[in-house]
Amino acid sequence: MPAEQPPRVPEGSKIKVSALREGTVIDHLVAGTALKVLKILGLDSDRSVTIGLNLESKKMGHKDLIKIERHEVINEEVQKIALVSPNATFSIIRDFHVVQKLSPSLPEMIENLLRCPNPSCVTTDDRVRTKFIVVRTDSLRLRCHYCERTIRKDEIELL
Ligand SMILES: [Zn+2]
Repeated sequence: MPAEQPPRVPEGSKIKVSALREGTVIDHLVAGTALKVLKILGLDSDRSVTIGLNLESKKMGHKDLIKIERHEVINEEVQKIALVSPNATFSIIRDFHVVQKLSPSLPEMIENLLRCPNPSCVTTDDRVRTKFIVVRTDSLRLRCHYCERTIRKDEIELL
């Protein structure tokens, strides 16, 4: 491997992403959710990941942060992560620069991402895709399209 030049951070850049050449920085995660987020991403083990737990944040008090080498998050991942950490921000990095920033927003309908906790729901059959309607986003409330069971944030179970 040739020696790499230390990256130059652009003037006025507020995000420190200097250590990452290609990949994604996920910032402003609710403290304590980073490991859950890694599980959601299900990255293979040769990927290099930097995790900051319980970092001080002016905006949030404490937060978690994740830097992932050579992985650009896709929309489906952003949506899943939004369910556990609605204010997370995503910076896609190429050649040490932020090329795209994503802020998740919950869709009106969440399909095939979550398990319905109702044991008699038709979606307990694996062949039926689960479907939830987002009823409230401020304190998250979802309703199963099939059995109308309402679930709160702490009841969310990802598929
Ligand atoms: Zn249901």
